[in-house]
Amino acid sequence: MTRLPSATAATAHQRRWFAELQAQVAAGAPLALVNADAPQEIFRAMGIPYVVNQWWASIVAAKRRTQDHLARLRERGYPDYTEQYSSTALGSAFDTDPGTAPWGGLPQPSIVLAETTGDASRKIFDVWGEQPGVEFYPLESAAAATVPERWWELMPHRWEEAVGTDRLDLMTGELEGLIRFLEQRTGRRFSEQRFAEVMALVNEQEERNRRTRDLIAAARPCPVAVTDSIPAVMVPQWHRGTGWGRDAARNLHDEVAERIAAGSAVCPGERARLMWVGRGLWFDLDFYQRFQDRYGAVFVWSMYLAIAADGYVRHGDDPLRALAARFAAFSDQLYTPPWSAEWYVKEARSHGVDGVVHLVSDDARGSWATTRALRAAGIPVLELHADNVDARRSDPAYLDGTVGGWLEAEVLPARADA
Ligand code: SF4
Repeated sequence: MTRLPSATAATAHQRRWFAELQAQVAAGAPLALVNADAPQEIFRAMGIPYVVNQWWASIVAAKRRTQDHLARLRERGYPDYTEQYSSTALGSAFDTDPGTAPWGGLPQPSIVLAETTGDASRKIFDVWGEQPGVEFYPLESAAAATVPERWWELMPHRWEEAVGTDRLDLMTGELEGLIRFLEQRTGRRFSEQRFAEVMALVNEQEERNRRTRDLIAAARPCPVAVTDSIPAVMVPQWHRGTGWGRDAARNLHDEVAERIAAGSAVCPGERARLMWVGRGLWFDLDFYQRFQDRYGAVFVWSMYLAIAADGYVRHGDDPLRALAARFAAFSDQLYTPPWSAEWYVKEARSHGVDGVVHLVSDDARGSWATTRALRAAGIPVLELHADNVDARRSDPAYLDGTVGGWLEAEVLPARADA
């Protein structure tokens, strides 16, 4: 099957954007390095260019350069075996020859932003903050004593109730501090009107993603490869708050709808529908295709489209508090039980999957609860213990043997009996 035009367009856009960003930074523009689950909308509204930490790690992994980056950390006495997805870009900061780096190299940021989730993550960003010319703005990671049921129904409008007033007060105050910090450091001004426009564009984009997710959930057979839907969702996600990002989400929706109307199948011999729980396996993107080719087992789900659909939309007449509501509980949605575990079960059911491959990295939080909840719902789960950017313990023979054996022993016989 040919690639989705929106996946090809997203990749091309990203290359052009990155080349322009390198030129802007070379000409003296400030650059921010921000975590994937951080409030990038403020940078968008202020016109401050930013690179997403984990996006860069995925590029380095796809170019098979993660080991060089980890070696640079090791040489300086830092661990190379924990949170590699978050620490790869720090390895780029220690690159003595950025000219040979992927995509011409990551320009040195002047500002880094992250939520301080976990001990290692905080320390990685503390090291960033020690680099010459770099300042780290940390955001608290707060937890709630009570957990909403079916958070995905509350979040678009009733986020105050879902996230909790205390957490929202804390994050809103931190965002006001971030705006002051950015105005002082960059000389750029924050406009409330511009920010409200950015927030409205993000809601439009994510509403479109929600419709696309619902189409794919209901479609039999699967009309789109997960290796296409991931870039077609994630690249626009890094450009959310722009007209381009919103239109890219619309194009993806329309292409998926057309394929469904035409009865197109990623794998016309589809024998099993699989869910991929966890981060993308960036060093081996052929992985997903191999099980389709060998077994007719199609990955129909990844968290990237699903969290875009359920995790981002926040309506309301106070845009800064709505932004706080987007991020105050972001990692809960994906990683903290019962928020996360219930959501994965809901998604597995709505997509009618026959099994779940659950990538469990050493630093993953709450993985055990996700596996337990899916199994309790009667869905076969294979836990694949591997890191999503560091291939040292995950050669293709290990991955293929583990997943292939599970498909043959558990998933395909159950589907044949159904
Ligand atoms: S089973 Fe293999 S050959 Fe048949 S449609 Fe799927 S990928 Fe193609």
